[in-house]
Amino acid sequence: MCLLADNIAKLSIFAQILEKMFSSAIRSFLLQKQYPFFHPKAVFFDMDGVLFDSMKFHASSWVKAMNAVNIPFTKYEAYMNEGRTGHSTIDDVYHRLLGRGASEEEKRKIYSLKSAYFEACGPTPKMAYAQELLDKIKTKGYDIFLVTGSGQPTLINSLQEHFPGVFQKEKMVTAFDVKHGKPAPEPYLKALQKSGVCPWEVVVIENAPLGVEASVAAGLFTIAVNTGPLEPEVLAKNGANVVLDSMEQLFREWEPFEDSWK
Ligand code: MG
Repeated sequence: MCLLADNIAKLSIFAQILEKMFSSAIRSFLLQKQYPFFHPKAVFFDMDGVLFDSMKFHASSWVKAMNAVNIPFTKYEAYMNEGRTGHSTIDDVYHRLLGRGASEEEKRKIYSLKSAYFEACGPTPKMAYAQELLDKIKTKGYDIFLVTGSGQPTLINSLQEHFPGVFQKEKMVTAFDVKHGKPAPEPYLKALQKSGVCPWEVVVIENAPLGVEASVAAGLFTIAVNTGPLEPEVLAKNGANVVLDSMEQLFREWEPFEDSWK
């Protein structure tokens, strides 16, 4: 009985510490943006590395596709470039290595190789606790949007199959909807426009440095979940308001997060 009381007390202290961490992040956000208040009505989800545990497949596919045309490329670079559209990633590498942009033909060839390698990886697993978090958020009445730099049709199409009844087409922004993908703010600004809510009424869930950069540039409160191999400091440096270790942590800490602004 004593042990139970002790554990309850410890949990309560832990919840208070979390609430303080979230409150402090929200205070800094409001001060910096000069918004009137923070009261989320919508949650914008990135897809790869957040809803799907797909980044390991993307990273190895990028390395194989680049190496196939004799371009050195590492998995770490793939993680650092995550969020960009495929063509932009290829263009960026060409600029860095060859001092020129890639031609349309080069971009088409490398991206189709990358897509083929990705398809060959087989079915992409859901990220652990993505379903649980979506269920919780949906039950609580938040509007749910998808904002992805992906142009991988199989993944986008399989959202319905993996997360039935959660994502509607009119509540998605993909690589096909934007001129300037992440790290530009356009995908998040487009989602903001579609949702009809104010910037202080949104929470973004991202895992990639460039995704965080895009969301922050759009003026949105950004929670980074570090589901890949990057150092958490990289996500904080790119402007994430809060950095958590996993989707499981975000699922478990959603209530202390709500308590900090409600
Ligand atoms: Mg991602």
